[in-house]
Amino acid sequence: MSYEKELEIGFNAVEKACKLCSEIQQNLVTRDTLTKEDKSPVTVADYSAQAVICFELDKYFPNDPIMAEEDSSDLMLPENETLKKNVIDYANTLLGDQNGFTILSSIDRGNFNGGKSCRFWTLDPIDGTKGFLRNDQYAIALSLIVNGEVVLGILGCPNLQASLFNTSSNSGSILYGLRRNGSFIQDMKTSRSSRIKVDDITDTKEAAFCESLESSHSSHGDSEKISEVLGVTKKPIRVDSQCKYAIISRGDASIYMRLPTGKDYQEKIWDHAAGYILVLESGGVVTDIHGYALDFSQGRTLSKNRGIIATNGKVHTEVLRAIEKVGIRY
Ligand code: AMP
Ligand code: MG
Repeated sequence: MSYEKELEIGFNAVEKACKLCSEIQQNLVTRDTLTKEDKSPVTVADYSAQAVICFELDKYFPNDPIMAEEDSSDLMLPENETLKKNVIDYANTLLGDQNGFTILSSIDRGNFNGGKSCRFWTLDPIDGTKGFLRNDQYAIALSLIVNGEVVLGILGCPNLQASLFNTSSNSGSILYGLRRNGSFIQDMKTSRSSRIKVDDITDTKEAAFCESLESSHSSHGDSEKISEVLGVTKKPIRVDSQCKYAIISRGDASIYMRLPTGKDYQEKIWDHAAGYILVLESGGVVTDIHGYALDFSQGRTLSKNRGIIATNGKVHTEVLRAIEKVGIRY
């Protein structure tokens, strides 16, 4: 089964949403809203990006269910009338002149709960909310899952430069991985696309690792202990969102650790599916912290897994061994 059409439609939808989110970030995320901790810009961006992507998917794949992070229930509240109007207006900058009902119904196309024997899309319209608000990294993450297997992932990273180490270009990138067909990065400005692969590092002493900027999402204390065991000397690359998977996929770091900070949190599948296939198709390996394969067939969360470890493949076993040795808390 080839998923070329799904890739084309999904890519175009993510590209549109990237442009929309960039515009909202530039127009609305000001210093003022940040100091007031006003979350409305990200809310407008979340909802309108979800509306645009679900609308596009529905047009070409009307029978495909979608599991997306948001739903329109809060937008129906009288106190959110202005927010609702803004969402509709922003979505319509790309969708033409759709009425409010169509926009809200598009958002609610994302109500699927997943499962084993089915084909469905997962969507995180803005992964890395905090990065978005800081004018930093965030990702628009779309994937297609067929019978529990992720077959396609598209990661829109509007603020991710061509290289972590060369920040002169600021055009952003869209990355995608297609099962058994490899993975690619496309520059958002030039539309130039090239194949990507993980790095070749085999000695963990030379490896760089990345982790969440938010210590409440991944334990920085545990990653420090694991790095010590591995002899890692480079400073951790702390980045919001699935951009971390992008960084591993294109060989800018060798290890991504997501270490549980409590015993109850279950990872959401839309936070990982797109990044997961990207790393796999770049030649890397992704498991949970115990080395188990990620199970995307359990509904909305990775309930059978604990934490996430993504690597270039060559250092994976050593990282898992170090985790076992350190004996992290959760
Ligand atoms: P990141 O930007 O990698 O830190 O991840 C952002 C994602 O972390 C959000 O989309 C949330 O779904 C997710 N998240 C929220 N709380 C937690 C938690 N306690 N542990 C792990 N991930 C979390
Ligand atoms: Mg997310």
